[in-house]
Amino acid sequence: MRTGLGFDIHRFEEGRKFILGGVEIPFEKGLLGHSDGDVLLHAFSDALLGAMGKPDIGSFFPDTEDSIKGIDSRKILAKVLELLEKEEFYIENVDITVICERPKLLPFFPEVKKSLSGMMDGIDGTRIGLKAKTFEGIGEIGAGKACACIVSVLIEEKS
Ligand code: MG
Repeated sequence: MRTGLGFDIHRFEEGRKFILGGVEIPFEKGLLGHSDGDVLLHAFSDALLGAMGKPDIGSFFPDTEDSIKGIDSRKILAKVLELLEKEEFYIENVDITVICERPKLLPFFPEVKKSLSGMMDGIDGTRIGLKAKTFEGIGEIGAGKACACIVSVLIEEKS
């Protein structure tokens, strides 16, 4: 068994869509990024790469690369899951904490969970932990300027 830990943070900006776990969340702002800014899928991808002892997603998808500008982050996760398959690992469980002051995310989590499960070959929902926290008004996240995400994964070798 291997564990992995991923973290990411993106700044909120007007005129962007707020994409989280491959789902568009209705909000007046969205996350800025070279990609679609999906902070959850980036942290998740990094957690999986970490568990495999590989470098972070920036080394596979450099933000200096024009051809991937605005890329759907589901493609990033798909690439990482392909690597996982190639190295003969499977996901035991994943635990995700999204941190942002607004909007309230809980109502959208069933859809996000469904989206995540779909990307992982329909993995059982009990293997996906999804939580939302605020930063209690502290600092930049607390001021609603950014959204962060922490993801922990457990993967196991197929035998
Ligand atoms: Mg990112």
